[in-house]
Amino acid sequence: MDDGYHLHREACLYLASLRGGGSSVNTERNYASRLALYLTWCGERDLEWSQPGFVNLLSFRDWLVSVPLPPRGRKSSVGPRFRKESSANAVLTTMAEFLRFGVGHGWVPSEVAESLSRPKYLRFVPQGFETGENGQYRHVRARTIKFKVDDPGIECFTPQQVDLMIRLARHARDKFLIVLMRATGMRIGETLGLRREDLHLVSDSRSLGCRSKGPHVHVRRRPDNINNALAKSVKSRVVPVGEDVTLAYRDYQWERAEVPAADECDMVFVNLFRAPLGRPMSYPNAKQLFDRLAKWAEIVVRPHMLRHTAATEPARPRCSSSPPSCPPPSSLAPSASTSPSPSNGSEPPPETGPPYSSRPGLRCAKVTRNTRMEVVSGDKPRAWTDIHAAIVDLLAGHLPATDRR
Ligand SMILES: [Zn+2]
Repeated sequence: MDDGYHLHREACLYLASLRGGGSSVNTERNYASRLALYLTWCGERDLEWSQPGFVNLLSFRDWLVSVPLPPRGRKSSVGPRFRKESSANAVLTTMAEFLRFGVGHGWVPSEVAESLSRPKYLRFVPQGFETGENGQYRHVRARTIKFKVDDPGIECFTPQQVDLMIRLARHARDKFLIVLMRATGMRIGETLGLRREDLHLVSDSRSLGCRSKGPHVHVRRRPDNINNALAKSVKSRVVPVGEDVTLAYRDYQWERAEVPAADECDMVFVNLFRAPLGRPMSYPNAKQLFDRLAKWAEIVVRPHMLRHTAATEPARPRCSSSPPSCPPPSSLAPSASTSPSPSNGSEPPPETGPPYSSRPGLRCAKVTRNTRMEVVSGDKPRAWTDIHAAIVDLLAGHLPATDRR
């Protein structure tokens, strides 16, 4: 946007192409802010964005890590903050993609795009890398404008850190958000896009029109979520969950029931404490929650780290909290809050859940730590255990033999 509040036409077209390609609103927002950095930097120096010159692009790279960032919050921080080199690389990647996009549309000379990378032959390749029959895939293009940064590895929480965050979260809704993301490895967009009908926290969901076994969550991509939450994968999947999720959801339902406005919303995560009440929780709200937790816990907290943490675990046990007398999950089901079946009443296509331990959809991390979170679900009423056991006993007499295992 220029001083006259006119949108940058080419940048808007590039962002529209991302949208058309199925990128989420969050991705588009991130790319837009990175492009704005580049275009503003060019504008302030009277440089043509489409032909900035290689030396100027190197200056832009250095400027990214040398200009102080605006202070966080109202209080001024101890000292100036600077952009990390890895963050600068993300900006440079977006800039390069934008310039390459411009070549295809005739806005940017092809020489500009060619200057952004150079041929490189990979002498050493990562494990599993397919080099091709004649080694042709060893020839790649390496970026010319970037910082060399060490791979920080996979960022995960320790069990103690997750425990601390759950304790520090002030509301049952926030605790459930953490427990759910931590247990399922769902992305934040997938989590905020959940509808109540996606939670099948019962042992047998056939009455809900679903043949997946055990308590589980359906992850579906819906482009019409009013909070713009979008599942990254276009493929629906079923993620099994354990008792920790069921109990945290139960607590959240008690809290939610006290806000009548929330009853009208079919999204799982809604505003309960700030206006507009009952509206779906937005990504900025969720981000603020994690920022607050980071400050209180004095650790780095990014929502995606919960996905990595989930991926670092060994196979999930059938019953996560594992008290000595823990009943099997199938018998937990009737006590859990259940969700209504899809409003049209038609049976959805069967989505066969993979085995409990396979963590469907988790592909962004490798197992590096054999840890298991000890879920701290606050001060659970002691009586709950007794009520729960009574329900289990009651239902045991009514369930078919196959479900009593
Ligand atoms: Zn289901």
